[in-house]
Amino acid sequence: MKPAAFSYHRPATLEDALSLLAQHGYDAKVIAGGQSLAPMMNMRFAQPAHLIDLSALPQLSGATLAGELLSIGAMTRHHEVATSATVCAACPLLAEAAATIGHYAIRHRGTLGGSLAHADPAAQMPFISSTLGASIDIVGPAGARLAPAAEFLIAVMTTDLAAEEIIRTVHFPVARAGERHAFPFEAARATVGAEKVTLGCKPSMASEDFAFMAQQKLGAYIWMGVDGATPRAPLHNPHYDFNGDALATGAAYWVNVVRAFGATRA
Ligand SMILES: Cc1cc2nc3c(=O)[nH]c(=O)nc-3n(C[C@H](O)[C@H](O)[C@H](O)COP(=O)(O)OP(=O)(O)OC[C@H]3O[C@@H](n4cnc5c(N)ncnc54)[C@H](O)[C@@H]3O)c2cc1C
Repeated sequence: MKPAAFSYHRPATLEDALSLLAQHGYDAKVIAGGQSLAPMMNMRFAQPAHLIDLSALPQLSGATLAGELLSIGAMTRHHEVATSATVCAACPLLAEAAATIGHYAIRHRGTLGGSLAHADPAAQMPFISSTLGASIDIVGPAGARLAPAAEFLIAVMTTDLAAEEIIRTVHFPVARAGERHAFPFEAARATVGAEKVTLGCKPSMASEDFAFMAQQKLGAYIWMGVDGATPRAPLHNPHYDFNGDALATGAAYWVNVVRAFGATRA
């Protein structure tokens, strides 16, 4: 399928990009890596009359460390987030999560800012940004503002970004000394087998529900992301009854979580 006709703009400055957005409003969309927007345009779910390409704005790329804050430009590609020595040292969970996005080609095109603006509930970056307490630096006609990621992400594919605003930078607190992390996804795979655990299935559970779900509903599994209806509520699902038979699976799951914790740096 092909997208509807549009005018293409490649501004050389952030100011020009903002003024194009202000001029065209809802008829315009910025494009970063195009890994989500281009398929939506091809399917004609999105039909912007003006496409504003942010790729000529180098000031939107790269990671810098200042004290306890890691700042990453919105146009920084997932691959760079995953491999940057600065990110790996300051915020290892973020780097590890970025390395799990899609495949190599997707990671080389897709960007941190694009992923946050797209707000796919199955995507790694919105979830991790919210979990780590990141704040999002947004610029628009009224100047700059900072939005905590957990408030910026409102629901499935819905953020508090206005049509004429651009995400400029995302600030992450540096990991504290001794902080450890593990992916429930990997622990779940180690517990019941990789073939039974997929990302992006129906939002229904978090780690504490895993054992019960694994026993009671074989074939469906773990979801990591932001619950669309109640994004800031705990992910615990109250709809499953306690099942004592599942305790062995639960114990094995937690052993694997602890192993994964042990494997990350102190
Ligand atoms: C085959 C495939 C597999 C994928 N697998 C995964 C996966 O496993 N995990 C995952 O998380 N994602 C996955 N993705 C999505 C991918 O990571 C995208 O890169 C990401 O969701 C959007 O980033 P982008 O830079 O491509 O944004 P674009 O597609 O260019 O833009 C997406 C949206 O964000 C807006 N936008 C972009 N940048 C800005 C900005 N700076 N300010 C304001 N608005 C902005 C655009 O207007 C658009 O609405 C996959 C995509 C494909 C095609």
